Amino acid sequence: MNRDFSTITASTGIGGVPITGSVTPPLHATDTYEWQSPDEKPAFDYSRTVNPNRSLLLDALCQLEGAAGGAITSSGQSAALLALLSLKAGARIVAPHDCYGGTYRLLAAWAAKASGHVDFVDQRDDAAVATALSDGADLLWIESPSNPLLRLVDIERRAGEARAAGALTLVDNTVATPCRQNPLSLGCDYVLHSTTKAINGHHDLFGGALLSTTPELAEQLEWWCNAAGLAASAFDCWQTLRGLRTLPLRVDSQERTALEIAHFLSSAQSVRNVSYPGLASHPDFELCKHQCSGAGFMLSFEIDGDQSRVNQFVAQLKLVTLAPSLGGFSSLICTPATMTHRGMPPEAQRIAGITPGLLRLSVGLESAEALIDDLRRGLDHA
Ligand SMILES: *Cc1c(COP(=O)(O)O)cnc(C)c1O
Repeated sequence: MNRDFSTITASTGIGGVPITGSVTPPLHATDTYEWQSPDEKPAFDYSRTVNPNRSLLLDALCQLEGAAGGAITSSGQSAALLALLSLKAGARIVAPHDCYGGTYRLLAAWAAKASGHVDFVDQRDDAAVATALSDGADLLWIESPSNPLLRLVDIERRAGEARAAGALTLVDNTVATPCRQNPLSLGCDYVLHSTTKAINGHHDLFGGALLSTTPELAEQLEWWCNAAGLAASAFDCWQTLRGLRTLPLRVDSQERTALEIAHFLSSAQSVRNVSYPGLASHPDFELCKHQCSGAGFMLSFEIDGDQSRVNQFVAQLKLVTLAPSLGGFSSLICTPATMTHRGMPPEAQRIAGITPGLLRLSVGLESAEALIDDLRRGLDHA
């Protein structure tokens, strides 16, 4: 993994702007473009299909992930829908039993409409994955690290098993970010991002991306994105590229703070089950070192006591905000069971290990001292 992330994010689209010489890329807020003649389709013909701001963001993300192409969508969920649209009728998906709640809801509803089949399995269980893949699977859907439990899947190994079984592999790389993990270099076919999260990083828009290493698959994604109208707006792409410029810096800083917080929480009296892949006690610590270039900005934990204690704890926090979403400059905490993973039925939550008291913390750019003070006060007063 030797891509020069900060040079890519700093230089994409800078300079070379015709007429004005504007250093930063202008916002092309237009629904359509002028044609020179009815039978000469210009490179830019209609903004649902193609827009310069969208093309620049796609170019930057493809460079970061080592992709041949793909689509920039209006949300992470529309990128997931795009993945489903590009599958054959009656396709079989093997998905993680502990994936993001919105992914679970979408895949389960897609299967319930008899559009296809989905097996939710524990992807760290070799036998369960092998059984599911042997059932004529078309797509292995991986989320690693998983949201909210920060479990890792050995991507290279699972992608190899999927390929041997005739299935393609997709990795939701939202939690890792392209600066920490590049699934396409590990043998996967698709990489998915909710750019709403760390890539934009500023909590002010929605977006998604689905990219592929294979030009044919990428072309299929572009085709379906245009046909179904899933593409992101010019403004959102312009803003997302602006946010992306500082991604490498933000991830470095947020990750350093997350490790300090993970150590603090691990030694706190009333806290248990701290899950952060950068802690030597994490079951995937070695895999994380091998597969990712860092453990990231997110962690989860439980606190002793009942639900009212959890509620008191979050109510005491002044700096950390109770809200879903992750990866942005501002630290957010949530209870996945009632917030981000509400779309997952209680029984499925129980199987995945998403307990009612589980807390997920996305660490932002505040100082480690200030965040630890806030968490300490919350724990002392809960
Ligand atoms: C948030 C999230 C999504 C969905 O993205 P939206 O932009 O909210 O539609 C998908 N996967 C993961 C891992 C996420 O955290």
